[in-house]
Amino acid sequence: MQRNARLLALLFVLPAPLGSQSNAARMANDAYTRSHDYDLIHQRIELRNFDWDSTSLDGRVTTTLVALRPGLDSVILDAGKRLEVRQVVGANVVRFAAHGDTLVVYPAHPVAFHDTLRFTIEYHARLDNGRGLTFITPQGREHRPQQIWSQGEDHDNHLWFPTYDFPNDKMSWELAATVPAEYSVVSNGRLVTDRKNPGGTHTVTWRQDRPSATYLVSLVVAPLVKFADAWRGVPVDYFVYRADSARARRLFGVTPDMIDVYSRLTGLKYPWDKYAQTTVADFFGGMENVSATTLVDWLPDDRAYLDRPWYQWILIPHELAHQWFGDYTTTENWANMWLNEGFAEFMPGQYWGAKLGRHAEDDYYLDEYRQYRQIDARRRMPLAALGSNNIYPKGALVLRMLQRYLGPERFWVAINVYLRRHAFDNATTDDLRQAVLAATGENLDWFWDEWLYQAGHPQFTVTAAYDTATRTLTLTVKQTQIDSTKADSTGLRYTTPAVFRMPVTVRVATAAGDREGSDVVKRVDLTAREQTIEVASLAGAPTMVVFDDGNTILKDLTFDQPTTWLATAVRRDPDLWNRQWVIEQLAQRTADTAAAAALAWAATRSDYFLTRAAACEGLGHFPAAVAQETLVAALQDTAAQVRRAAVTALGQLPGASARAAELARATFRSDPSYEVRAAALVALFHADSTQATRDSAIAWGLASPSYRDVIEESAYRIIAQSGDTAAIPMVEARLGGGRFPAHVLAALASRGSAHALDVLAAHLDDARAYVRRWVVEAFRFTLAHPLATERLKAVADKLKYADTKKDVGQALQQLTKPGSEDE
Ligand SMILES: [Zn+2]
Repeated sequence: MQRNARLLALLFVLPAPLGSQSNAARMANDAYTRSHDYDLIHQRIELRNFDWDSTSLDGRVTTTLVALRPGLDSVILDAGKRLEVRQVVGANVVRFAAHGDTLVVYPAHPVAFHDTLRFTIEYHARLDNGRGLTFITPQGREHRPQQIWSQGEDHDNHLWFPTYDFPNDKMSWELAATVPAEYSVVSNGRLVTDRKNPGGTHTVTWRQDRPSATYLVSLVVAPLVKFADAWRGVPVDYFVYRADSARARRLFGVTPDMIDVYSRLTGLKYPWDKYAQTTVADFFGGMENVSATTLVDWLPDDRAYLDRPWYQWILIPHELAHQWFGDYTTTENWANMWLNEGFAEFMPGQYWGAKLGRHAEDDYYLDEYRQYRQIDARRRMPLAALGSNNIYPKGALVLRMLQRYLGPERFWVAINVYLRRHAFDNATTDDLRQAVLAATGENLDWFWDEWLYQAGHPQFTVTAAYDTATRTLTLTVKQTQIDSTKADSTGLRYTTPAVFRMPVTVRVATAAGDREGSDVVKRVDLTAREQTIEVASLAGAPTMVVFDDGNTILKDLTFDQPTTWLATAVRRDPDLWNRQWVIEQLAQRTADTAAAAALAWAATRSDYFLTRAAACEGLGHFPAAVAQETLVAALQDTAAQVRRAAVTALGQLPGASARAAELARATFRSDPSYEVRAAALVALFHADSTQATRDSAIAWGLASPSYRDVIEESAYRIIAQSGDTAAIPMVEARLGGGRFPAHVLAALASRGSAHALDVLAAHLDDARAYVRRWVVEAFRFTLAHPLATERLKAVADKLKYADTKKDVGQALQQLTKPGSEDE
């Protein structure tokens, strides 16, 4: 699963108190794996009479299972309480009973150990829209055909068909859906039949032959067109709305090559009968349903590729990676979910590295590092833990670290062993360690303990001293991380190691040999809270010192260095992360002309756009006299990301406003990139905040169409940041156009506009359901919490629409629960 913008929040109730076991012990004991007494073998799921008004359907599910104990006299299935079971029939079935979200089927005669039981459940379901299945109606909006899509993960599939809804039992299945002729049906596995029925419907049957987990059963019903592609004879299909036909191939055409690279890296050929990617409305991002990924309907237009859309850079390769990691080898329980998400988040960096080279790979993981740091700062949790908040970026980064430690050859053999040992089956965190052990002979218990079961990362403070007499550099390395997390209500406390044990490489360059080949490189094992590293017999005084050459450790680094060392490093170090760190150091030295010169070099001459962009950002803090000309030159860069950084920095540059405003205006008019134009608009507002300029910037922004409305969003940001209450009527008039305007009203209200709050609150009774939903979201996420709580409490009982009453109730619950401020 991959979510755009907002991260996955897992809520899960513990089955039983677990005493004071450590996290590692709970994980090792499989404390989070559910027990059951049968083995699900196969389900045939038949669905018909879908009704969008009542969000209902009729279902018929035939289940085949094998008893895992002698005398099995009842079968407990997960079945949502909104499934009205009409009958259960089978040769050996007497009765059934429904209790809440559970359906119990009673065999007439107990089933012997390893004997098979088969029965068919017929039901009518009136679903809670958005739970399990989502029914979408156009509501008069553009780009929104009527459709239905499913979302099973974590445990929502039992809300639309009875099953065993936990990942530790795999089955094969068939899904047959009867729908009106104009709708396509996309599901897992291979297409078996597509039969026309009398009365203008057709029945489409898909069959998933190879076993997978039940949360991966999926269904999309929508009017779609199919684009057929292939990888070595395996169908690779893209299902999109007809209106998106022109955009499908460019976006999804990368898929066969990605399948090829993943097959080669893992040593495991793509394991399913086909791969479909289907776009749907109101989706949170993407979901890796086995062989049939569901994705949001945000297909980039041609121009959007100038800005490297998230959709192709991350989303497509992430969901594809799940076909191996998650669908083929599946986490045994949700506490090991990082095995699914960490690998899926790791693999795109491997793909881009393989296609575009080392810098692209570093670029990908540097972004993961930023996300990781933000999440870790909010709450520090281990990777392998129930409800861990950091399984995506930290999972990717720890796997990258493991790959760096083992080297690519050993790493990929170990991954191959892991996948093959758990083919069509489940795995735990320790199973991965055992695969590494089997493949390499190395017991990485220490690595698993530090990086998987415990939390945090090393925070290094390094100081350097050079002795000219002995030509020796001495580095003092301290680990300063603090173990400060508190125990939760179950007695569990996540610990942070006092010492992270890892090998580290130090690289030292000297003036005597300012060529990469003549650097002195020393590898040392870090084993203590404080230790020294000596690099002796240097040719002369150091000109550059890199602590952790190649950036192999997930860490924070404090290391005060002379500007000359940093200036050498930004030119010489091929590692993007180290360069980024160096640029951050340089950017703080705004009174140092040598620092400015080093950044100017990096902004215009560095060999990768991310470094150039970071240097532009850094220059934004320097005086105009030093930075302006470089930033103006950077506006001509071939990479949109650099131009965006340059125009943003120009807008913030102290004392350069007239020129900056003129450049921002010109950039907005002429740049081909949406993101650059969006940034230019904000830069213009920063450089010239007069009413006239602001009004025209807002008007231009609102009138400029762009992918994902990034330019329009800039206009809204200007309104929100300037507290421009004169814009309220215009913002109100646009409430139906997207989710931003509601948030702008909330931002204005948070800044003290009572009128903005009244306007926003009035639209809780808007006739358009989707506007009401966006307004509730704005109350929940953008409006200052005390204001939101007070107003929602005041209006909750007087609201016109039942759905909004319910949403407001939920929002109030969220807003008033302890800790809600840290979300
Ligand atoms: Zn995922």
